[in-house]
Amino acid sequence: MECSGVGLHSGAPVFLRILPGRPGTGIVFRRTDLDDFEVEAISRNVARVSYATSLMKKGVLISTTEHILSAFIGMGIDNAIVELDNLELPILDGSARPFVEMVQKAGIRKQRRPRKYLKIRREVEMREGNKFIAVYPADSYSVSYSINFPHPLIGKETFQVELSNGSYLRHVAAARTFGSREDERAMRNMGLIRGASRENCIVLTRDGIENGPLRFTDEFVRHKVLDLVGDLALLGKQILGKVVADRAGHAMHTALVSRILRDKTLWEEVTVSEKDDTPHFALPGAQAAAGSSL
Ligand SMILES: [Zn+2]
Repeated sequence: MECSGVGLHSGAPVFLRILPGRPGTGIVFRRTDLDDFEVEAISRNVARVSYATSLMKKGVLISTTEHILSAFIGMGIDNAIVELDNLELPILDGSARPFVEMVQKAGIRKQRRPRKYLKIRREVEMREGNKFIAVYPADSYSVSYSINFPHPLIGKETFQVELSNGSYLRHVAAARTFGSREDERAMRNMGLIRGASRENCIVLTRDGIENGPLRFTDEFVRHKVLDLVGDLALLGKQILGKVVADRAGHAMHTALVSRILRDKTLWEEVTVSEKDDTPHFALPGAQAAAGSSL
């Protein structure tokens, strides 16, 4: 499955292809323009985190990884190779839906090896000013996210979702990224959003939006959930735990990931027996179960 587009931040044109990964591969990005150099989607490779999450290994950059990784987690894909011929993932429509559709077209194959989960055993809470992120022990993966954005259409929004029952596809995947017209000039001048357009992000004006309609009335907070799920994918495994975030962002999401991985008393690796194995779902015409790939 392939597509082409431009990177939101770099504006760079990019061709992307998703290939099946063997059991145990995890998610691996492959730069076809740099002799197929591979960068694994794991916390150790996290490079730079401000407006997007970027990975770097031996100087090779993979930028804005969160939307495709979010799609993989939301669909229960554990193993895949993502080929791209430039440094940034395409932004497409600003959501994870195009990636979900690519995977659905390719079909999902169940792999024999049972999936390993990262099960949270002890709570972790992190605070930074009025920003907060935490994860608590639970038998499934759920997220509760709050934002408080000074805009007439947003204000305080909270969205809570159980990621284990197909909710991701219905309630999260299509939520688009957003930015305000007011910040646009400064961000463009700094070269931060060379690829931004009305086709790939919701543009907020002072009192409304420029390119409606919204896909959900609370699309903004849903997109934050999408980003969080994509950033937490850098744990390298599906989580069993309840994540709570308030006004966090990529930096706090990835800080939580490294905090969890640093302290092995916070979690354990478990395999869940097929019978109780609810944290994924089958797509029509495809089987998704323990350890899935494309
Ligand atoms: Zn995003």
